[in-house]
Amino acid sequence: MAHHPPDDRLLVVTGAVIWLALGCQSPQSPTDVGRLSPVAPGARSEARQEATGRIIQFPQSFTDFAPTEKIVPVDAKEVSLRQVLEDLGEDATLWYQHVQTLANPFFEGRVPGSRGGELTTEYVEFFLRLYGLEPAFPADGQMTEETEGTQRVSYRQPFTFGLRGSETEVITAKLLLDGEPLADGADFVVLGNSASGEINAPVSFVGYGIADGPDGYSSFEAEADLSGRVALLLRYAPLDEAGEPLWNERQYLRHGRIARKMRAAARFGAAAILMVNPPGAAVGGEDLESIQQSRGFGRKLDIPVFQITPDVADRLLVEADPLGRGLKTWCHLADTGAVKTVDLRDTITVRGQTEVRRRSRRVAGANVGGILRGRGELAEEWVVIGAHHDHVGHGALGGINPRNRGQLHPGADDNASGTAGVLVLAKKLSEAYADAPDDADLRSVLLLTFDAEEAGLHGSRYFARHPSIDPAMISLMINMDMIGRLRNHTVSVLGTATAEGLSEVLEPLLEHSGLTVSVNGGGSGRSDDASFHRIGVPALHFFTGMHREYTSPADQAYTVNPAGAEEVLDLVFDIAQDIARRPEQLVFEKPPVQRGRNRGYAPVRLGIRPGMDEDDLPGVLVDEVFKETAAHEAGIQDGDVITAWGNETIEGLRDLFMMLQEHTPGDTVTLTVLRDGMPVAVQVTFKAREE
Ligand SMILES: [Zn+2]
Repeated sequence: MAHHPPDDRLLVVTGAVIWLALGCQSPQSPTDVGRLSPVAPGARSEARQEATGRIIQFPQSFTDFAPTEKIVPVDAKEVSLRQVLEDLGEDATLWYQHVQTLANPFFEGRVPGSRGGELTTEYVEFFLRLYGLEPAFPADGQMTEETEGTQRVSYRQPFTFGLRGSETEVITAKLLLDGEPLADGADFVVLGNSASGEINAPVSFVGYGIADGPDGYSSFEAEADLSGRVALLLRYAPLDEAGEPLWNERQYLRHGRIARKMRAAARFGAAAILMVNPPGAAVGGEDLESIQQSRGFGRKLDIPVFQITPDVADRLLVEADPLGRGLKTWCHLADTGAVKTVDLRDTITVRGQTEVRRRSRRVAGANVGGILRGRGELAEEWVVIGAHHDHVGHGALGGINPRNRGQLHPGADDNASGTAGVLVLAKKLSEAYADAPDDADLRSVLLLTFDAEEAGLHGSRYFARHPSIDPAMISLMINMDMIGRLRNHTVSVLGTATAEGLSEVLEPLLEHSGLTVSVNGGGSGRSDDASFHRIGVPALHFFTGMHREYTSPADQAYTVNPAGAEEVLDLVFDIAQDIARRPEQLVFEKPPVQRGRNRGYAPVRLGIRPGMDEDDLPGVLVDEVFKETAAHEAGIQDGDVITAWGNETIEGLRDLFMMLQEHTPGDTVTLTVLRDGMPVAVQVTFKAREE
């Protein structure tokens, strides 16, 4: 759904007005976008002086933290820009300008390895330098034991990370029809969902390969056995004389899915598949597919899969059919349902060999970092403030809704908000350090923005493995991921029990903030702070909560709350300052395991690794089932697609996570999975998540 601000002209004026006047009228979320009533002059700061903070317990699940606030619509004509800016003040305005810029389409959703990703690193680097920070990295972006003491000369820490299985290469492609070699690329191709293997077998015609079409249509005899045979499969679904689908669009799309059809053929035991485009189809041509295109045909099968041209299929059929009928005739028989599985002559064989290699694609990313020098006794110790600067581009990475693939995901709250926070704090801390007495003892501060968080915390993990400062000297890491949507003055702080005495250190600061602070001793495990916990560094995660625009094209800059962000940043600033000056260093402590409520993740575990369903259809593809888990015991299999949880439809990963949050060990639910295109009900009994 597109956003249509009521008055487009206002988009060209400064963002604060847009936030105030238009964000509230965002059609997708009339109730929880930003704080929208203009605040009377001075009212906010007075309110904050009077307010006392409150510490509450973080909800059971990460996604449950989503404060709501009633929004008072504002008439754009009534807004005084001067008043708005005066009320916002310098920090909030600066923060908001950074968010506006980073969430601008020019930055292309900040996906790693893209032009937009490069611009993002340039942007952050420019401002870190402008605010007086020193480069955080040696020339090669990392500091090993040998390079210890090497001068830090760069603001960037380049790295690469792999996207699993993202590139497919055909090493061997051989196909012989009745002993006669066919030409790879001209007569046939190996498809991207093919396994490596060899075949030498006669052929069975399987029509469209549709097991369960409408009105009892099926391409397979109930007892069909294709073992030891090559399945010759028509693409698409039954067509009329004009080459148009015989079935309605929904049925055509559903039953014509290549992955579904090929899985059915494999399920009936086929040793290999030869796919051919039916000649004369109104939609789709007769061309052979490229390897990369055909990766979209679904999960890799366990058998060799080829596409042959209609000419080759015609020759094959004429030779192998005892009646000598060609492809057009066979297509017609399949269209009308007149034939099902038909074994062709055993004497005509297809021989083939495939070797297909899948490699992860390496993507280049870069963390960006600047150092604010400390001084005195504590100068060699550190406070780290970080946020990921990447997002999902046009829906390339991360748990996006497949419906939104291809659309720009601006990522204003996730995580232009945190990136802007790092920049504002760089400036504020620089100024504070400049103003501090010469003889003050101050820890050094490393301000960092991470790349490739959305694809799996790659940037922060790389930093944790290749730190440019000694991790043993880091007193505290503060991560900001999604701090742009403060509602009801309620922010969450996770990881408050990751250092001895940290909760006690934080308590007065949280109370002083005037905010309601929802705390959780452990981390969420969902953002870059987790990479620091893993190397024994105490780390906090600031988060203003979930909302409907999360990881969607609607996460636009005019939905964020600059005044709220300033309150969060003031609190982070106070904590950073306190930790930076405190004589004793914080020592990492594994937070106590929280059972039942008050945990950052679901209390139960299904036990699957979700995969990417390249067909972009609803459901969660099970890439791998882990042994001795609830999923394993329930009989869920690799390649299943989870489509329903009880009566609830599972559209994507987020739905699955939401459902998991609601269960405790011992609960039993019925999941519906699609297996080879057929719905199968499985009973899952949950166990406790092991720690
Ligand atoms: Zn994020």
